[in-house]
Amino acid sequence: MLTKAPRGTRDILPAETGMWQFFEEKVREVSRLFGYSEIRTPIFEHTELFLRGVGEVTDIVSKEMYTFTDRGQRSLTLRPEGTASVARAYLEHKMQGEAQPVKLYYVGPMFRYDRPQAGRYRQFHQYGVEVFGASDPTVDAEVIALPLSFFRSLGLKDFTLHINSVGCPKCRGEYRQQLQASLKEIVGELCKDCAERYDKNPMRILDCKNEQCQELTKDVPAQLELLCEECADHFAAVREALDALGESYIVNPRLVRGLDYYTKTAFEIMSSELGAQSTICGGGRYDHLLSTIGGPDVPGIGFAMGIERVLLAMEAAGVQPRADRGTDVFVATAGVAAAEALKVTLALRQAQVAADKDYLGRSLKAQLKYANRLGVRYLVILGAEEMQNGQATLRDMQTGEQETVTLAALTERVVALVREAK
Ligand code: ATP
Ligand code: MG
Repeated sequence: MLTKAPRGTRDILPAETGMWQFFEEKVREVSRLFGYSEIRTPIFEHTELFLRGVGEVTDIVSKEMYTFTDRGQRSLTLRPEGTASVARAYLEHKMQGEAQPVKLYYVGPMFRYDRPQAGRYRQFHQYGVEVFGASDPTVDAEVIALPLSFFRSLGLKDFTLHINSVGCPKCRGEYRQQLQASLKEIVGELCKDCAERYDKNPMRILDCKNEQCQELTKDVPAQLELLCEECADHFAAVREALDALGESYIVNPRLVRGLDYYTKTAFEIMSSELGAQSTICGGGRYDHLLSTIGGPDVPGIGFAMGIERVLLAMEAAGVQPRADRGTDVFVATAGVAAAEALKVTLALRQAQVAADKDYLGRSLKAQLKYANRLGVRYLVILGAEEMQNGQATLRDMQTGEQETVTLAALTERVVALVREAK
């Protein structure tokens, strides 16, 4: 147990961090291009925030939260998602007083007691954005266009956009009644979860992953057919904007969110590169979330994408990030005090050259072997005799060329070579 990470968590090893860094650089780039600023919220919040902001009837809150009591007897929860925290921060810092819309993005770990499998972990990472203070349908189109454009910039091609409208509290009452009426006969044949959802949250039944439930409910009415005029107009305008952008999509009436504060647009992006865990991004409008957690009724919309799943899709698509350059120079010694080598190494580092040395008292031959393993391009050899004459040897590991350089000019010479080689 001491030498194994907890179930559902994993180390991101040096061999993988290049991909993560590439992903994160792209996140910052696309977010800036689309006009979003970064926000970093705490990893844990008051449990109550998620009870209200995510909703007690959701899987997340009812089954998946990591909740604990701290030494001050407060109930705290490791954040299972980002939207509630960002909405809380918007209210706490009175961002409704700033120029609207407020466009924020976040990247970081989320925690859910999920069943671990490929693409599903207990600590996973999300990149998400939230826009507060704008209800225009072009904002919906922008929030959908961002991840699509982002995925393309990562080199992904095989993904599909699904969109739907989940209506608003005005049109949902009528729909809920019709839905319950049409489910009444079959509720006994649905899974245990769906039987529970029937009273509390019948819309979520459409979202059930159980095949029998999907088959039994395939002909039930959809919210999309019962939208009020405002919601229908909004949906038409979102579609028009996506058409104008040349983005293709599938209208999927079964795509649901099923909480009262979710309104109008809901969307998901699936990757064809992945198996069961194929949803790489999900989002939608939540015009009543802020009032649900005690704020004014400010409209909002956002998405969250699962970074691990996107990385799996990238791997499956054969996307390679540019290789990390690693160490540029190795400082080897032959009969010279270790402190001398450290001094030369530090001078190189101060000049922005990634340099390293031996720490194990290896022979010169073993040092060269080790330098090769590090994949350095240049080797500095400090020999006892040369040092006495104020000189060192500089070798290009790629060409085998060698030169003698004065110690005084060494750093400058290496900087020039490394810059040239870039
Ligand atoms: P799922 O149906 O797969 O459980 P979800 O509806 O719970 O997904 P959201 O809450 O919408 O997911 O989260 C947005 C995205 O975060 C998902 O589309 C997915 O890419 C990712 N995600 C969610 N849960 C996990 C997890 N346990 N491990 C890895 N990624 C996850
Ligand atoms: Mg889930």
